[in-house]
Amino acid sequence: MSMFSGRSAIVTGGARGIGAAVAAALAKEHLGVVVADLLDRDGTATAESLGAHAIFRRLDVADEDGWQAVIADAEAMFGPLAVLVNNAGIVDFGGVEVEPPVMFRHVLDVNLYGPWLGMHLAGPYLRRAGGGVVVNISSTAGLIGYADVGAYVASKWGLRGLTKAAALEWGSSNIRVCSVHPGPIHTPMTADMDDSAIAAQPLARFGEPEEVAAMVRFIVTEATFSTGSEFIVDGGATAGQVLHMPSSAGE
Ligand code: NAD
Repeated sequence: MSMFSGRSAIVTGGARGIGAAVAAALAKEHLGVVVADLLDRDGTATAESLGAHAIFRRLDVADEDGWQAVIADAEAMFGPLAVLVNNAGIVDFGGVEVEPPVMFRHVLDVNLYGPWLGMHLAGPYLRRAGGGVVVNISSTAGLIGYADVGAYVASKWGLRGLTKAAALEWGSSNIRVCSVHPGPIHTPMTADMDDSAIAAQPLARFGEPEEVAAMVRFIVTEATFSTGSEFIVDGGATAGQVLHMPSSAGE
């Protein structure tokens, strides 16, 4: 019997993209998954594709009452909460001098306050159940900087730091907390990005949502001695840049 039979997971932003792939990967591990998202149609379709292993619940991750309802439903439908994946995220484009203040705050609300709220409210449930795993989906933008997405970069560095603080607080409660740092992944979020984003990567392609989900699954099921750790899924982007030197021209 799986270690997760009779236990539940919540995946925010689970309606599509990386979150949908994570929901599918966790359902395969016999977790009952709550797909929590703003998108009713996509969220319902994703949950239905996973059969009896998943339900959709509408959630704005910045809404405290919404979180309470989602956690209560997860436990009522599938059993004690074991896994929380804070995946919901948004990006807004605009340089430091250009981005409207209201948008800076909105990005921080969804990408950083949302995960904090989820951990704040789910923590007592995870502890009561004897422990669990929290995976926070940050980004390579939580490891390095990018121009014209300052709010996104700040939110993802913040989430990486929050991951470490929570890991330190919760180790004695058997709750592990790790961050995942994807590079460019094929999802609706990157639909408008061209190949310049990937040209200098060692693996010069976009990643697939399933490749991030495989890392999340590994953290949840295998990485039992890892907490406060960063797991990078970026095709080598943060290793450096592949420069095409004159000496290699014509090879
Ligand atoms: P996506 O836009 O395809 O999916 C994001 C999901 O989050 C959507 O279903 C959306 O409805 C949901 N969402 C947005 N705001 C929400 C809110 N307030 N409450 C609840 N749900 C909300 O994007 P994706 O590429 O799958 O991104 C998933 C996560 O991975 C994000 O945190 C993103 O920052 C991160 N990430 C993505 C990439 C990439 O290249 N795609 C790279 C690094 C990190």
